Amino acid sequence: MNERARRLKDQHALQVAMLVCPECSKRFRVYGDAPLAYLVADWAKNSGDLSHTMPRDIAAVLAHEHNPTRLVEESTGLPWLSEEVSGLAYLYAESEEDGGL
Ligand SMILES: [Zn+2]
Repeated sequence: MNERARRLKDQHALQVAMLVCPECSKRFRVYGDAPLAYLVADWAKNSGDLSHTMPRDIAAVLAHEHNPTRLVEESTGLPWLSEEVSGLAYLYAESEEDGGL
């Protein structure tokens, strides 16, 4: 993993991020594994699963008038759902070999 990806992953581990809407500059503070929580919440919403309890921060993102998938992470300027920011593509694949950090 290169330095940039490592730094992003370290930020990810802090479990808090500021997201900015590129259209209206509205900012959202999200906690935890926000990209994953968003994907789960979006899936639940689309499937009509009302039993799914959505974190309030994620609900705010989903309810925003502009496309939530276009939000960017403030600190990096990268799309928050991109592979680099969300880590979703390697979240599980690399978690074990990086365990000794
Ligand atoms: Zn907006």
